Amino acid sequence: MNIILLGPPGVGKGTVAVKVSKELKIPHIATGDMLRSNVAQKTKLGLEAKHYMDKGLLVPDGVVIKMVKERLKNNDCKNGFILDGFPRTIKQADEISAIANIGKVLNLQANDSIIIKRLNRRRVCSKCGFVYHLDYIKPKNKEICDKCGGHLYQREDDKPEAIKERLKVYREKTAPLIEYYQNKGIIINVDASGTPEEEFNLVIEVINNKSSNACANK
Ligand code: AMP
Repeated sequence: MNIILLGPPGVGKGTVAVKVSKELKIPHIATGDMLRSNVAQKTKLGLEAKHYMDKGLLVPDGVVIKMVKERLKNNDCKNGFILDGFPRTIKQADEISAIANIGKVLNLQANDSIIIKRLNRRRVCSKCGFVYHLDYIKPKNKEICDKCGGHLYQREDDKPEAIKERLKVYREKTAPLIEYYQNKGIIINVDASGTPEEEFNLVIEVINNKSSNACANK
């Protein structure tokens, strides 16, 4: 099945997508990761994208759409994929609908105070890209990756000013996709305010169709 994870930055899309990808054996396609890898390798695309990313702004549709279309041509997408961070605009959503059949859109929800705290406490490995959270997914040493020994850093766009901008951009450009997918009847809300494990369990429950709407049991 082709799945889209929708939701504001910091809601846990990446963390849950990694686990879903393993569980369902489908590739996790994260446009943010793809862009960051281009930035690190100083490709033409990366140099163009960096300027927007550091400020918390969206990279232009044309650039991102082309990148995703190329990625979806890979053989590993034949049996499904999970998209994380794409689409982020109506234009991107129209483009993906034109080339792929989307089975489910999971709308991950959490309030701003939870999101801001999560983003502030997020650390990423500069070598393998693994994402830690200093409260929930703690590395043994807060500067070193447990998995590969790489240096852990805080993303430029996880700093307070950029977080504010990213939430604003989310509301203006991405939140309208909720109604867009409601009209198509394929969106399901998932409470993402709990721990990463709770979030994963709810997401898998929804994907496996055991329930049409999911809320954390607290
Ligand atoms: P993320 O890792 O998903 O939070 O994305 C980090 C940054 O990459 C975003 O703040 C944007 O600047 C850029 N980005 C990622 N995905 C997209 C997208 N679908 N459209 C435009 N920009 C994107």
